[in-house]
Amino acid sequence: MTLAQLPAVLFPDVGTDRTIGVTDDVAALQDLIVNVIFYGTPGGPWVLVDAGMPYTALPKIRLAAERRFGPGNRPQAIILTHGHFDHVGALPMLADEWDVPIYAHPLEMPYLTGQSPYPPPDPTVGGGMMARLSMLYPRGPYDFGRRMKELPADGSVPGMQGWRWVHTPGHTPGHVSLFRDADATLIAGDAFVTTKQESAMAAMTQAVPLVHRPPAYYTPDWVSAYESVRRDLTKLWRQYRACATDACRAPLPAEYQVSVAELADLAARASRAQADYYG
Ligand SMILES: [Zn+2]
Repeated sequence: MTLAQLPAVLFPDVGTDRTIGVTDDVAALQDLIVNVIFYGTPGGPWVLVDAGMPYTALPKIRLAAERRFGPGNRPQAIILTHGHFDHVGALPMLADEWDVPIYAHPLEMPYLTGQSPYPPPDPTVGGGMMARLSMLYPRGPYDFGRRMKELPADGSVPGMQGWRWVHTPGHTPGHVSLFRDADATLIAGDAFVTTKQESAMAAMTQAVPLVHRPPAYYTPDWVSAYESVRRDLTKLWRQYRACATDACRAPLPAEYQVSVAELADLAARASRAQADYYG
């Protein structure tokens, strides 16, 4: 790749609104190492899933939302798969601007209502430059105050009829993935990713279309992370279209099997390492 090609890789101008279509009503907008998801057909009511990186996400989401859904068309809700800094970047501004509720799992609430920061990244797993950089990532707590609402206990997703949220803990305690049974569309959040985020170059170029475990440095509970993918997500993925946080593929490539084995292996090694580390 030449340097001149790099911006096109970082910001692929796929649609006029710069989103990547997954289905007629699900599109992803790439923001450096993560995606934000737009749910809704162009011009209609819509919902934002996750809110990208600090600084870079805000202008991108504003512009894409306006182009896709029309000027002044505010979303009905914002849904968070979890509250890591790269998923809430544009939130403080957008939530005020749009004056909409933000939904997350009850177990994610302490990190989003000012009560607790996320645990520090674990330097004993992963490796690579991103893992080392992760020590510098902001960990919150964030406080989105009165706008924060718990996802409904019946599994429904506000503003997204026909979808349900699936609790997929491990990467964070209250991590959720969103699933639509009618066409097996999955918004996986960080339950798995399609680039190895420990490698800065792979994360930035989104170059490797394989499915991997979530970012190792930022996943405190590998046993749950593995169980979430093995027990909950693999059975949902059979004939799927899928949308991980960092990239969307429809359908998901067959290599995902590799990631399940990789995740199992990492869960075993990480539990041993953590047991040694914490005695
Ligand atoms: Zn995360």
